[in-house]
Amino acid sequence: MKKTILLVHTGGTISMHVSKESGAVVPDSTNPLMQESKKLEKIAHIIELEAFNLPSPHMTPQKMLALRDLILQTIGNNNNIDGVVITHGTDTLEETAYFLELTTNLEIPIVLTGAMRSSNELGADGVYNLVESVRVASSEDAKNKGVLVVMNDELHSSVNVTKTSTSSVATFQSPQYGPLGLVTKSMIHFHQAPLKREYVEVSKLDKKVALFKVYAGMDADLIRSAIDYQYDGVVLEGLGQGNIPPAVLPTIEELLKLQIPVVLVSRCFNGIAQGVYGYEGGGKMLEDMGVIFATGLNGQKARLKLLIGLNQVNKPIDVKKFFI
Ligand code: ASP
Repeated sequence: MKKTILLVHTGGTISMHVSKESGAVVPDSTNPLMQESKKLEKIAHIIELEAFNLPSPHMTPQKMLALRDLILQTIGNNNNIDGVVITHGTDTLEETAYFLELTTNLEIPIVLTGAMRSSNELGADGVYNLVESVRVASSEDAKNKGVLVVMNDELHSSVNVTKTSTSSVATFQSPQYGPLGLVTKSMIHFHQAPLKREYVEVSKLDKKVALFKVYAGMDADLIRSAIDYQYDGVVLEGLGQGNIPPAVLPTIEELLKLQIPVVLVSRCFNGIAQGVYGYEGGGKMLEDMGVIFATGLNGQKARLKLLIGLNQVNKPIDVKKFFI
């Protein structure tokens, strides 16, 4: 029997075209994907909604939360939905995917997809990726695998996937871990599955979390602005195994004294940050001061995770345990 898939559009290049007048890639007044339902209906029964028609740099955590609520509400009203597909701009797709990973706990698949070439460009990849995503969302094997990203014949976990190329259709990669599987002409083939899934209950996002990239010769002024602007948490994309320049240390100490959690990830896209070095600004020193090391996440995802954690309904999180 045909599966029922909820298809939610949010915008991005997949919903754009190249303007003949300016040559720029621009949003359409009507989403070109809305005309593709015939191709999709061959695979599954489609319930189609347009949540937004935004370039993904315009996405915000508040909009991600609204998207989450729309999905849960629609599933609540139609108990026959077997899977969800979301079309999204690729620039922040990994963030929305990870947001949904942490804030939904559904058994059915949630798949995000996008395109690197807009609808009227040579080699446009949008409809292809959309068809593959509907196939994945209809697959029994995709259940309980967490939120997935499907592009260019690959299946990725929202936890590990990141945009790696400004323009290649193979932009989405999972550094260190690789894809969860492949999409072929005849198969949805998983070769790994996530060991753990996390769920955090959130209903609003009042807190503010900043993300800073650490660099050689960094001064404390920028990080200090997190205190001045009353941020509730700070994530640092630190150096190597998890180190920072000494000039930043006193401000980190100040943040911690003010009970503002400081989470550290590595700028390196492989490996896990940890407290190894004992020199001034070294990871061991930071760990002893109370800086929390996030296990293997990139900066933008650690930032979202801290934001979601600090907004958990009812109980405050233990930041250290939350990031293991
Ligand atoms: N700038 C576009 C966006 O994220 C890129 C894309 O969709 O591929 O909306």
